[in-house]
Amino acid sequence: MVSPRSTTKYKPRQPDLFGYRKPRAPQRYLAHMIDVGDHGCIYEPGNTCVALFSCARCGWESGWIERQNKTHVLRGVACAKCNDQPQGSLAG
Ligand SMILES: [Zn+2]
Repeated sequence: MVSPRSTTKYKPRQPDLFGYRKPRAPQRYLAHMIDVGDHGCIYEPGNTCVALFSCARCGWESGWIERQNKTHVLRGVACAKCNDQPQGSLAG
């Protein structure tokens, strides 16, 4: 009699393809550019200008933010106040 002695103790890893959703921050309230310029500073690689954004809804002001180019500037940034929701981060 040979007793089966299993040494396979590992559990098969289940890929969690479901259940993970790419978080997508809903940028409902945008702060729009109120000023843009070149301060003559050294920017982060890939950035060419700085811009100041203000939210028409709450008056929030972004401060000077480096942007890649004017197109990115015109796109605006999400207002930190109006989009202040617990579940979402405003990264980007
Ligand atoms: Zn706002």
